[in-house]
Amino acid sequence: MVDGARMDLQYLDSLARRWQSLGPPRGRPLALYVCGPTVYDQAHVGHARTYLLFDTIKRFFLAQGARVAHVQNLTDFEDKLTRRAVRLGVTWKELARREERAFVHDMASLGVIPAGWSPRSSEHVNGIIEQIRVLERKGIAYRRGRAVYFDASAVPASGGNFSADAMLAEHAVPEPGTAAEPEAKDPRDFVLWKPSAAPSPVWPSPWGKGMPGWHLECYVMASHFLPLPLDLHGGGLDLMFPHHYAENLISYALRGQPFSRGFLHGAFVTMGDRKMSKSLGNLISIRQALEDICAPALRCYLLSKPYRESIEYLEMDARSADATWHDTQRTFHGLLDGSQGSGYPVERLERGFAKIPRALAQDINIPEAIRVLHETAADIQAFGRGGLETGDRTRGKRVLLRMQDLLGLPLLDQGKREPPASTAVRPFARSAAADAFSS
Ligand SMILES: [Zn+2]
Repeated sequence: MVDGARMDLQYLDSLARRWQSLGPPRGRPLALYVCGPTVYDQAHVGHARTYLLFDTIKRFFLAQGARVAHVQNLTDFEDKLTRRAVRLGVTWKELARREERAFVHDMASLGVIPAGWSPRSSEHVNGIIEQIRVLERKGIAYRRGRAVYFDASAVPASGGNFSADAMLAEHAVPEPGTAAEPEAKDPRDFVLWKPSAAPSPVWPSPWGKGMPGWHLECYVMASHFLPLPLDLHGGGLDLMFPHHYAENLISYALRGQPFSRGFLHGAFVTMGDRKMSKSLGNLISIRQALEDICAPALRCYLLSKPYRESIEYLEMDARSADATWHDTQRTFHGLLDGSQGSGYPVERLERGFAKIPRALAQDINIPEAIRVLHETAADIQAFGRGGLETGDRTRGKRVLLRMQDLLGLPLLDQGKREPPASTAVRPFARSAAADAFSS
């Protein structure tokens, strides 16, 4: 990024459906909450695309010297997780911890900067129970047997941030296993607490032994670590409805405010015209993909289309991205090691790269940023003497390292460089989170 320059991110808010501007906040970190995975099976390249998108958004702000307080939960209990644990002959917790380690490993291999806090849902059940009791007291929750439901009709109007009714009309047919709540009195209602028994997780509660429903957990974890409303909230496109719709209703119910000032969702990776998913069996895990191509190439490939468009995963395209990446990386290495001769003007390198943060500022145009990267490499190759003069190499190295941190691509290193953690907010306790916002 140009030293000292502040750039706002212009993006199309996916819930409000209007253009928004997000600048690095002054005097406090940016509050970012990304919905994390349900850790029940290997993460696939669709997950990778989502987390790489938010990693780039975070890098955009870190590169400007802003602090980013990034919370990303791990959903470690859910019915499908229990079902898989039973099939494998392990407890839900054993499976969740194993898949959590695998997920952390996958993200590290892709060069994703870890979130400052990665709370597990199962460790916030007391907070969830507390909020359900508040909702009951406010008359926004009702009981059906030993289950508790959120009463959407009792929530005051949403203040124009998004239209719950329009969204519901658009999703009139609930996705299987999501919005369908057989005992709810209204299709907009969702379960907050439900009875459960082993092998599912079980917690004591004022409503008997049971477990929380899904949507409230992110509200509870976000408000535990971050001030609400958040600056930016997001995840994969499939979370927009019903999950983020429900979180927003909860926030209006409890605080009379939206959950976040902005919502952003990344589109899917498809295979054979269908969204990649476990249930359809049409997926490529991150590990499978990395057997074929290297991590930076996978990053370039998954981000090679605008984030609001889905991308069809084709092995042929992935391999071609791999070849292009290696060619580009070799060219940038040659800028500094003298192997390509010398004479390439460092100003020309800086001018080319200045387009990259500008591309990101405009709706996170990562495809354009990557195109500029390759275009610059092609220019260096076409120049003939594609190395920098000895006296320009320190300056050249500095600009390459800046782009490396901004895009999460090892332009100079073999992927071993630490992420720019010094400007990220990465403590692991709530008190530290509170300090981050008060300092
Ligand atoms: Zn969530």
